[in-house]
Amino acid sequence: MSTPSFRLYNTLTGQPDVVEPAEPRHLRFYACGPTVYSYAHIGNFRSFITADLIARTAQAIGWDTTFVSNITDVGHLTEDDVADATGEDKMAKALRKEGQRFANVWDLARYFSDALIDDWHALNLVEPDVRPRATEHMQQQILAVQALQEKGFAYETKKGVYFSVEKFPEYGKLSGNTAEEALVEGAAAQSRDTVQDPEKRHPRDFALWKKDEKHLMQWHSPWGWGFPGWHIECSVMAMEYIGEQIDLHAGGEDLIFPHHECEIAQAESITGKPFAKLWVHTRFLQVEGEKMSKSKDNFLTVRDLIAPEAVGGRGIPPLALRMTLLSGQYRKPFNFTFDKLRDSARHIQRIETVDQLVQQALAEDAPGDDFVGERLGELYDRALGAMLDDLNTPEALAATIEGVKMLQGIGSNLSGAAATSASEWLDKINQLLGIIRPQTEDADASKDETDPLAEKVEGLLEKRAQARKNKDFERADAIRDELDEMGIEVMDSPEGTTWRRKVSV
Ligand SMILES: [Zn+2]
Repeated sequence: MSTPSFRLYNTLTGQPDVVEPAEPRHLRFYACGPTVYSYAHIGNFRSFITADLIARTAQAIGWDTTFVSNITDVGHLTEDDVADATGEDKMAKALRKEGQRFANVWDLARYFSDALIDDWHALNLVEPDVRPRATEHMQQQILAVQALQEKGFAYETKKGVYFSVEKFPEYGKLSGNTAEEALVEGAAAQSRDTVQDPEKRHPRDFALWKKDEKHLMQWHSPWGWGFPGWHIECSVMAMEYIGEQIDLHAGGEDLIFPHHECEIAQAESITGKPFAKLWVHTRFLQVEGEKMSKSKDNFLTVRDLIAPEAVGGRGIPPLALRMTLLSGQYRKPFNFTFDKLRDSARHIQRIETVDQLVQQALAEDAPGDDFVGERLGELYDRALGAMLDDLNTPEALAATIEGVKMLQGIGSNLSGAAATSASEWLDKINQLLGIIRPQTEDADASKDETDPLAEKVEGLLEKRAQARKNKDFERADAIRDELDEMGIEVMDSPEGTTWRRKVSV
């Protein structure tokens, strides 16, 4: 079968475009990462997973990938999503709210970026080749702002350095928000009491550098002490690690304007060349039909969902959460529900059972034909075809579930030859969708080493085994009840005792 081409919907052209890397079979792309002022929520991760799936799909057709995803740890202001360069720095605001918990804003940034990377691994996202931080690329950002100033695209005021949108006639080509429309909006904004720089020449001019000697994170620059605007970091870091022209740029739909529009203006003004060929945007996520909001109790961080119940989380298996987020295609708004989460948890448990059956059959190596290989091959092609068609994850999952159900139906009657095919199929599906097995080779070993809950559970199980040996069944049952309350299910079998976290959604 010849592989169909890889197509993704391109916000820039308004249609599905064939992904054509500048260097054939090597996709180089950049995905906007989080601002690390709190735990990432499931909507953030829906967008990060899109980037993960782009990498996985490209790799599945034999391409190399260079995947860069940044960490924003300075310069993202509270009003940046609507108006540029007004409001408070999100990092500073978080520090003010977190009070005593962090010694300073740098500690806060480090804490939440570590948490982000933990969640990233838990949800089985492929690791970017580079994860650059804005604060570690200050020199490059200052040089870029200087270059824009020298080329006449930027001007300095008493408060900072701004990009002049009137100097870039293509401004608006991604979002459709043109500089002219902004004049009207700008007038309206001026009449509200947004803090605007009176020296700004056009309401849509955006900050490249903010002068601020009181800011918690500041650097010395040709314009005095201050910090960079939010948009410049992504242009600079994409160019630093990929080049002046990149194949693809991804992010959440809320970033189309102003963030990505500004990235294009900056990069293309510096290089005089088109910046990214393809722009891929993930649509928003709702929870039970409502916008997620911190003021309601529907604001779900990955942490809240996957942390064990013993430490206040909901104990959702991370792969079940990942599968739920894959159950809607990235380009359609997604309604996250606990029903979907329950369904996914059931599927994940089924997959786990089938994986064990297959590994057992592989070890037993019973004689017989490979009577599943052909059908599984078809199902893999269907899943890959779906992913190549604008990351149609629901269809890819449907093909996966069909294969898993088929294997479950066969049960322990798999021949060694059939088990080999089944095992290879599970591996390939896992590489494509990341829902079969956690990333670590030996998940149990790493669980024992790093997880304090696992240590506690193992300790209690040892005590229980001892109690049973001493025929103190009352004590053994009491320990089992204690484990039960911790959300741990204990399974005894002739081979010994195993345990797992209970799924309770
Ligand atoms: Zn960005």
